[in-house]
Amino acid sequence: MRVVLLGPPGAGKGTQAQIIAGKLGVPAISTGDIFRANVSGQTELGRKAKVFMDAGDLVPDEITVAMVKDRLAEADAVGGFLLDGFPRTIAQAEQLRESLQELGHGLDRVLELVVDEEELVRRLSGRRMLVDGQMVQRDDDKPETVRHRLEVYREQTAPLSGFYEGEGLLARIDAIGSVEEVTSRALRALGADGDGEAGQPAAV
Ligand code: ADP
Repeated sequence: MRVVLLGPPGAGKGTQAQIIAGKLGVPAISTGDIFRANVSGQTELGRKAKVFMDAGDLVPDEITVAMVKDRLAEADAVGGFLLDGFPRTIAQAEQLRESLQELGHGLDRVLELVVDEEELVRRLSGRRMLVDGQMVQRDDDKPETVRHRLEVYREQTAPLSGFYEGEGLLARIDAIGSVEEVTSRALRALGADGDGEAGQPAAV
């Protein structure tokens, strides 16, 4: 199964991506994680991406698209994948469609995690991650940067919802509730909840 997980920063994409990908038996591919690994590994890619990430801006499409293309060509992603954090612009979505077409594939479903903005700001400002045994705040989770990332989301990424709705691929998932509740809504929309019913691309 080839799935895209869409949703604003703080919607819980990373958490859900891991769980859902595990259930589907496909790799969860997070562009944010790949960038962060490159930043801590001090690679050339990481050096380029860091400037944009710290500002809460998108890393330019030419860097991001090439990176995702390489990742999708790896053996574990050939049979399916769950993309988290990509595409984030209409241009990226078009490039993804082209890359998959070249391989004779297409997306099966796009899940959009829906959370209102007030809740997002609350979640992001309290978010911490574990680095070298310590809980630290991500540089781009500082309040000013969070506001900017939400603006970038509204302007550049939110239009993807309509784009994929037009392709008949979109399922909107209410992402307020416990992790387990959100997971089961997502699996239902993918028709992967074990009852054999394919989900409809409508509200869940
Ligand atoms: P979040 O969803 O919480 O904003 P991510 O971990 O997905 O965080 O991304 C962190 C940062 O990495 C983004 O703010 C952006 O700078 C960069 N990034 C991740 N994915 C993309 C992408 N598809 N296109 C451009 N930049 C990206």
